[in-house]
Amino acid sequence: MNSRTEQRIALISVHGDPAIEIGKEEAGGQNVYVRQVGEALAQLGWQVDMFTRKVSTEQDTIVQHRPNCRTIRLEAGAVEFVPRDNLFGNLPEFVGNFLKFQRENGITYPLIHTNYWLSSWVGMQLKKIQGSKQVHTYHSLGAVKYNTIKTIPLIASTRLAVEKEVLETAERIVATSPQEKEHMRSLVSTKGNIDIIPCGTDIEQFGCISQQAARVKLGLNPEDKVVMYVGRFDPRKGIETLVRAVGKSQFRGDKHLKLIIGGGSRPGQSDGMERERIEGIVHELGMSDFTIFTGRLSQEILPSYYAAADVCVVPSHYEPFGLVAIEAMASNTPVVASDVGGLQFTVVPEETGLLAPPQDEDAFAVAIDRILANPQWRDQLGKAGRKRVESKFSWNGVATQLSELYTQLLQLKVQDQEPVLLSS
Ligand code: UDP
Repeated sequence: MNSRTEQRIALISVHGDPAIEIGKEEAGGQNVYVRQVGEALAQLGWQVDMFTRKVSTEQDTIVQHRPNCRTIRLEAGAVEFVPRDNLFGNLPEFVGNFLKFQRENGITYPLIHTNYWLSSWVGMQLKKIQGSKQVHTYHSLGAVKYNTIKTIPLIASTRLAVEKEVLETAERIVATSPQEKEHMRSLVSTKGNIDIIPCGTDIEQFGCISQQAARVKLGLNPEDKVVMYVGRFDPRKGIETLVRAVGKSQFRGDKHLKLIIGGGSRPGQSDGMERERIEGIVHELGMSDFTIFTGRLSQEILPSYYAAADVCVVPSHYEPFGLVAIEAMASNTPVVASDVGGLQFTVVPEETGLLAPPQDEDAFAVAIDRILANPQWRDQLGKAGRKRVESKFSWNGVATQLSELYTQLLQLKVQDQEPVLLSS
């Protein structure tokens, strides 16, 4: 029997519910990461409990994903959707309900892996209260984000202070790319322990269908030139840059050009407003007849979309990792991405795709056109992308690295640990 069989760990993701349908209600990379990591760790022998905040009375309190892996929804504030910038005041209640859950079930988690700064605060309280060891993944750094947006939210100073404290006090920070680690060091703190363990993807799910078969399935023609985006509707995702770039493409006017924009949104909410804004630009540029808004794409249908596309574009203003890029690469599809953050790590320019300066629609147009103009090169880039993902970014490989890290931290005796700086 595996020595880890009895070992429990808690993954905490206050605002990113791992059991929710991905692609809607602000669900994106963090939700995918927590669920995939949780399920893969359970397969390696850990007892994994993933804690998140309950946002609707219709949601089950406990969702069993597979043996030894479940999502547990705790109440914290009103049981309704609350934007993440307004959640901080609810966190003490989240901590209280976490402790109550432990008491009622006779469990104390020796190691807690927190996700995003809100959860890092929860983890730091649990460390103070019961000495749980903490591993933290940021998913987004306030210090980087606030450099790329015009209106800084009120919560900014709290977030920056929490992000600094967790870097300096957690047993280990997991950076998902060397670029993210560099930002932590240059913008947050020179103290603290950081390991680089990337995000992963399901290499059996993505890459399971050929371009030809995918096009038949989706009703696309073999001659179509398909440019695709998938992800959340958020101005920082840079969808506007993509639309304007395709508007300038040399293939504009070719009846086979198609722009597919996938992702869910809720009318009246921030993502619904961004979708409306993008639709407005598409209309204004006279691109409505060849632009398709698919709405949310399920993880089951996504492999077909990626495979059908000639190029997948990730035009984010910033991206700490960017799962979409590796999902496309796993599907043998080249990626044109912004030359920022984790995309500089996943996409190898001229080998698996191309990088362009963020928000530079002309550079994106040139990059997209280079790939559309040369189908043979397109296939070559796609194959190299697939190889890169197989060797570096499979969930199983990622989970194995995390598992080794947890084992190592759990074996550390208190006296072996670096002194922990606790702020009062
Ligand atoms: N996604 C999805 N369906 C959609 C839109 C997005 O399944 O309609 C998934 C996508 O496959 C990816 C994740 O949401 O796994 C987005 O992650 P990424 O890291 O690219 O961006 P984030 O949401 O973290 O900003």
